[in-house]
Amino acid sequence: MISGRLRKTTYQVDLGALRHNIQAQRAVLPAGSRILAVVKANAYGHGLVPVAQAALNAGAAGTCVAILDEALELRDNGIDALSLVLGITPVEYANVAAAAGVSLTVGSLDWLEEYHHLAQANHWTKPLKVHLGIDTGMGRIGFTDIVEFKRAVNLLAEPEFEFEGMFTHFATADSTDASYFEKQVARWQRFVDSLDTLPPYVHMANSATGMWHRECIMANTVRMGISMYGHNPSGYDIKENLGLQPVGTFQTTISFVKKLKAGESVSYGATYTAKEDEWLATLPVGYADGYPRSLTGFKVMVDGQFCPIAGRVCMDQMMIRLPKYYPVDTPVILMGKSGQLTLTPTDLAKQVGTINYEILTGIGNRVHRVYKN
Ligand SMILES: *Cc1c(COP(=O)(O)O)cnc(C)c1O
Repeated sequence: MISGRLRKTTYQVDLGALRHNIQAQRAVLPAGSRILAVVKANAYGHGLVPVAQAALNAGAAGTCVAILDEALELRDNGIDALSLVLGITPVEYANVAAAAGVSLTVGSLDWLEEYHHLAQANHWTKPLKVHLGIDTGMGRIGFTDIVEFKRAVNLLAEPEFEFEGMFTHFATADSTDASYFEKQVARWQRFVDSLDTLPPYVHMANSATGMWHRECIMANTVRMGISMYGHNPSGYDIKENLGLQPVGTFQTTISFVKKLKAGESVSYGATYTAKEDEWLATLPVGYADGYPRSLTGFKVMVDGQFCPIAGRVCMDQMMIRLPKYYPVDTPVILMGKSGQLTLTPTDLAKQVGTINYEILTGIGNRVHRVYKN
């Protein structure tokens, strides 16, 4: 293989910071609580397998993924801990999950009955691990009716199943207004109270709940996503209280430097024109790497200083204005820390008009992930 990691645009992942964040969450939970590390979408851009491994080493009880393929990738890489698929898996693939010991979210009695028939007809003997999803107000997937839920629980007593968990998901846990959240908690409590015996994993908390609603976590497990990566689920709205450390740094180096003369223009559309002679650097990173084109007009950091982006962000390159000459290979931080300055995914998201989650999950495949600690 000739192609290698011959690129100086990297996403540096500090697994020590990841461990710190898991421990910070764990320290404020009641004794015996568990953490499931949410590693869907390539671990929010940080790399599925290394992050899952580090989170499990740091004491996470298992992982959550969005789709079956992600769980199977963990299995293919020798990670055998509990892995829960949070979305709905097509019933025709569910025996693959059962064989691999992957736990599936089930949101309806129909799905369970269909699997039950298939399992009996095909003599699938290895029990499928099931977490029943309960829709208390997110409106996405899950049981809304307690009678149907109880029938599902009864069916889970069949040998084709293992009733491993039940959970719900909040729509507004990152909001300063708690009224909708409290309505969801009350609905969840009715589902919990309807059972004589609870399954081993009872979970309701995402990052925001683990941060701002700890007093009402009526469950034994937190699903830790964005906070595990060191970022605030609310963006700027509510201060985070765990002392999180950002895990990722998006970095490149200058690939080309030149003096731009007053009156000369830069990039597509020639939208940027130098008012005076200035130093201009080209960076080998662009929107195809997940640095959104809508960050045109934003800034990066060089040597502890902010430098404005000059002209439009291109697919694979972009230009910045330097305060003075810096040579080729000078490090440039797109997201992270430089001297006293920081740029967070929340800062980038605000500029783009989105949330930090979308910035992180958008970082492209061809950006090499580099792990430390
Ligand atoms: C993505 C997801 C999470 C993690 O959310 P964060 O806000 O990143 O903590 C938890 N639970 C479910 C069901 C999810 O889909």
